Amino acid sequence: MNEDELVAVAEEEFKDLLGVRGNPEISRVRRWPRGIPQYHLGHQARIRKVQDIALEIPGLFVTGNYLSGPSVGACVTSASEAAQNISAYLRHRLNDTLACNVRVAS
Ligand SMILES: Cc1cc2nc3c(=O)[nH]c(=O)nc-3n(C[C@H](O)[C@H](O)[C@H](O)COP(=O)(O)OP(=O)(O)OC[C@H]3O[C@@H](n4cnc5c(N)ncnc54)[C@H](O)[C@@H]3O)c2cc1C
Repeated sequence: MNEDELVAVAEEEFKDLLGVRGNPEISRVRRWPRGIPQYHLGHQARIRKVQDIALEIPGLFVTGNYLSGPSVGACVTSASEAAQNISAYLRHRLNDTLACNVRVAS
């Protein structure tokens, strides 16, 4: 979309969502080309590699919009999974430490 089209979309949405009337005093278009990751050919293979590496390194977990989708919903799902894996990992580590302490004490 060119700049005029982008401004027109924004104006339309402001009218629709916020009930704004009239024309804006000022409008500027700023593009953020690296704001959201662009998935290129081979993305799935790269992600599998990253996940395989993370599996080999205890305590390393990955999440973020480059993994399984840039939408907030996909990020929340990915982050929740990572949080559960981190929690399970820490519980496991804690149990190992407690078992080790019990062995040392007895
Ligand atoms: C302009 C824009 C509009 C968008 N609109 C929508 C939309 O309408 N709907 C939608 O579903 N999605 C939208 N998205 C996409 C979505 O917001 C993002 O993809 C998502 O928020 C990314 O989540 P994330 O957890 O991967 O990264 P982020 O939300 O960027 O979180 C990363 C966090 O890590 C922190 N951080 C970075 N480096 C370090 C470091 N070295 N040490 C410690 N902390 C660090 C950052 O400060 C940040 O808090 C939009 C994105 C942009 C940029």
